[in-house]
Amino acid sequence: MATVLISGSSVAGSALAYWLREQGFTPVVLEHAPAPRRGGQAVDVRGAALSVLRRMELEAAAHGLENHTDGMSMLDAEGNEVFRSEEVALSSGNLDSGDIEILREDLVDLIQERNQGIEHCFGDSITAIAQEDGGVTVEFEHAAPRRFDLVIGADGLHSNTRRLAFGPESRFIRHLGTYLSVFSEENYLGLDRWQTWFNSGAVGGTVMTVRDNAELRIFLGFASDPIEYDYRDVQAQKQLIADNVTGLGWEVPGFIERMWKSEDFYFDAMAQIKMDSWSSGRVSLVGDAAHCAAPLSGQGTSLAMVGAYVLAAELGRTDDHEVAFARYERRMRPFVEANQALALMDREKTPPEEMVARTDAVKNAIDLDAVVD
Ligand SMILES: Cc1cc2nc3c(=O)[nH]c(=O)nc-3n(C[C@H](O)[C@H](O)[C@H](O)COP(=O)(O)OP(=O)(O)OC[C@H]3O[C@@H](n4cnc5c(N)ncnc54)[C@H](O)[C@@H]3O)c2cc1C
Repeated sequence: MATVLISGSSVAGSALAYWLREQGFTPVVLEHAPAPRRGGQAVDVRGAALSVLRRMELEAAAHGLENHTDGMSMLDAEGNEVFRSEEVALSSGNLDSGDIEILREDLVDLIQERNQGIEHCFGDSITAIAQEDGGVTVEFEHAAPRRFDLVIGADGLHSNTRRLAFGPESRFIRHLGTYLSVFSEENYLGLDRWQTWFNSGAVGGTVMTVRDNAELRIFLGFASDPIEYDYRDVQAQKQLIADNVTGLGWEVPGFIERMWKSEDFYFDAMAQIKMDSWSSGRVSLVGDAAHCAAPLSGQGTSLAMVGAYVLAAELGRTDDHEVAFARYERRMRPFVEANQALALMDREKTPPEEMVARTDAVKNAIDLDAVVD
């Protein structure tokens, strides 16, 4: 049985491990964090990704953990409501669509429950990848070197695998001019299944209810040219938010005060990954590592789930990994490009209903059973 090292155990890595085992491979999952990572927002499983979840027989369980939202409002800088809807919510889409909005950590937990028996190595990272005839020798920060048939990077926007096998991130990252943070808080505002969006020019954010109204997820962001910052220095990232998210009324100053105490603060650039090829010899990429669409697209999780399914299916169809990788790319690229375009919509000029309609128009734009040569 061919062995596949998967770097990253979030949505793409977990889904890929599941589907590779289904196809008869032996996946080994490596995760840099010491344990499965918590935090982040409610993510959306839509269209073709919902079909992938159904094929994993996880759709009912995911519906059971679904985040229910009844609508959204938009506020101006002073906190006056300028838009309200009970039909769409920007981060959830059409509220009667059947799509699933679920906390990222809950989705990953569901998939990982299915992955029992698959070898997982936490708290380690790849330091070198040497491709030779018939295999790949991988060196790690902590563990002894090991040999695999294939290596797949599912390690996100700042993929370590991509850096080692394809080159520095700067060659592939396209900044969209915004930085975004998210953290959890108890629902001290008493919001009821609601999303409230606020912005003024270059700063803005959202607060939304999760976990049956018990908790809030608070997003704060600001427009900026690329900033050099330490990905691991959370205090410095909080300072960036405090320094830049200014001039907003309503509850926003209170959000910033609470941010300092949050323990699951997540901060990153709104950025996309654009690569001419997602594969190099026996190494390939999946999910954000290959083609991050940016949180603004609302489709990163769906792309990761569909990409994992298609990649495993293509590897299962042939013994020639190069043929499989080429077919995977041919099938995924149009879907990726249509979804990456969603993040480029002008949010100031596009009404929320139109943004949701554009997502609906592309969420199924791939045939999961297509056979390409
Ligand atoms: C903690 C967290 C919070 C998030 N919050 C949001 C959010 O609020 N909004 C949003 O739109 N998207 C968020 N995302 C990103 C979102 O999960 C992805 O866009 C999408 O689900 C695609 O998933 P992915 O598995 O490709 O990438 P990711 O979910 O980014 O997963 C990458 C995984 O690789 C791991 N990893 C990183 N470096 C290494 C390494 N060197 N070796 C091994 N493993 C490594 C990471 O710890 C992570 O588990 C978040 C991701 C994480 C990890």
